[in-house]
Amino acid sequence: MKTLVCDVCKRPIQSPLKDRNYFHIEHRDLCEPCKDQLDMSLKPVMRAKHPFNYEWYQRLVMDSIEKAVSKGRF
Ligand SMILES: [Zn+2]
Repeated sequence: MKTLVCDVCKRPIQSPLKDRNYFHIEHRDLCEPCKDQLDMSLKPVMRAKHPFNYEWYQRLVMDSIEKAVSKGRF
C-alpha cells in the first residue's frame, strides 16, 4: 500500500483520502493539521486584499507552502 507523507511536517498520513485527511495542492501533499495552519496563516492576508484576485491567491498559497516545506512547519 502506498504511504503518503506530508511534505511539510513529514508525518505519514494513514489511509489517505483526498480532501478529507490530506490535501494535494499543485505538486505538494499536506496533512489536515498543516492545511489548517495554512488556512489560518492566509486568512488575515486574504482579508486585507481588496479586490480579491485569484491568481494572486494561488501564488500566495504556493509561496506559503514552499516556505513551510523548507522550514518543516507553517
Ligand atoms: Zn503535515
